[in-house]
Amino acid sequence: METYYRDTWVEIQLDAIKHNIQSLNDYLPDKTGIYAVVKANGYGHGDIQVAKTALASGAQALAVSLLDEALKLRKAGISAPILVLGWVRPCDAPLAAAHNIMLTFFQEEWLQQVKQYKFKERLTLHMKWDTGMGRIGVRTIEEMDALLTELDDPRLHLQGVFTHFASADECNLAHYTKQVERFHVLLQAFCRRWKYPVELHTGNSAASMRFPEQMHHKVRFGIGMYGLPPSDVVKDLQLIQLQPAFSLHSKLIHVKKVEKGESISYGATYTTEENEWIGTVPLGYADGWMRKLQGIDVLINGKRMPIVGRICMDQLMVKLDQFYPIGTKVTFIGKQGDDIIKVEEIARYADTINYEITCMISYRVPRVYVENDAVVQVDHVTSY
Ligand SMILES: *Cc1c(COP(=O)(O)O)cnc(C)c1O
Repeated sequence: METYYRDTWVEIQLDAIKHNIQSLNDYLPDKTGIYAVVKANGYGHGDIQVAKTALASGAQALAVSLLDEALKLRKAGISAPILVLGWVRPCDAPLAAAHNIMLTFFQEEWLQQVKQYKFKERLTLHMKWDTGMGRIGVRTIEEMDALLTELDDPRLHLQGVFTHFASADECNLAHYTKQVERFHVLLQAFCRRWKYPVELHTGNSAASMRFPEQMHHKVRFGIGMYGLPPSDVVKDLQLIQLQPAFSLHSKLIHVKKVEKGESISYGATYTTEENEWIGTVPLGYADGWMRKLQGIDVLINGKRMPIVGRICMDQLMVKLDQFYPIGTKVTFIGKQGDDIIKVEEIARYADTINYEITCMISYRVPRVYVENDAVVQVDHVTSY
């Protein structure tokens, strides 16, 4: 197995991914399947391991944002259907076809350009409808009709139609409802025109947890698969018991007693109020632990202790309540003893959402995959 030579690591509980997929599967109607969304390196968790676990636990297909991400999964030997949710350059469509990767389309010129390229494998496509997200997709029946006309090429196969909700995680569902209505207006027009069966999918984690019976053929399950709530509103509804898969740990690499009145780190922003034990930890903003997190707690010996002074590129300092030996475990996200620091706590402190926190932990931090309490795989900087 691969190894690494630093005392900072992310632990991914693959059992949690499995639990979350199985729970959603039990919760959804039988007719509704699951795309496991593993874009952005599986929201920072590791795309290949998460994809394999999700597929083995009941997901039928994968979704990513970029063609590069889809190709990485194919290269890892994954043969399940993969849908690219974002825009791909027309000139790269033949490559997608060659690797049996499904692409998203919503522009007439895009289809016209794709048809000019030589390729022999069938290109499988999903049409994107913009029902109120305002990002990508067709907005009118006329635009949709124009796209259907351009699908007159036997190499092009329309397999699916989808839309994306902008606010399915919010308390006020007016915008969600408007999007559902627009989807049905477009769908009616589509069914009049197109006589072949297609797969319909609309829901992200929030929609699939709140409105399981409205979810058509598949859902696109991202944040919930990682065991994180799409929002506080959805968390408080307690619809499915999710298990977080992600935790972040390091170790003390230096411990010293600092006299009262001494300063710590760049800019001398922290001054010791008494004689204090200060520990140094090899995690910094180049690992994704942003400078904005100065002052937040870590867990050592099951107790909360604050980060003091500026966070450096590769290291930070913690105010300890007593002496601890070098090598003592420091937990930034996850459980220690009876306490837990959740991704949501970090997100609140940094004025952002849980999605951004796991994504921001950089490639420099090794990912250690755990299944049944045993390490089954390690990914680190030289194995990317
Ligand atoms: C990222 C993404 C999802 C997954 O959303 P979650 O809120 O993480 O479940 C679904 N659909 C599209 C189009 C996306 O970009």
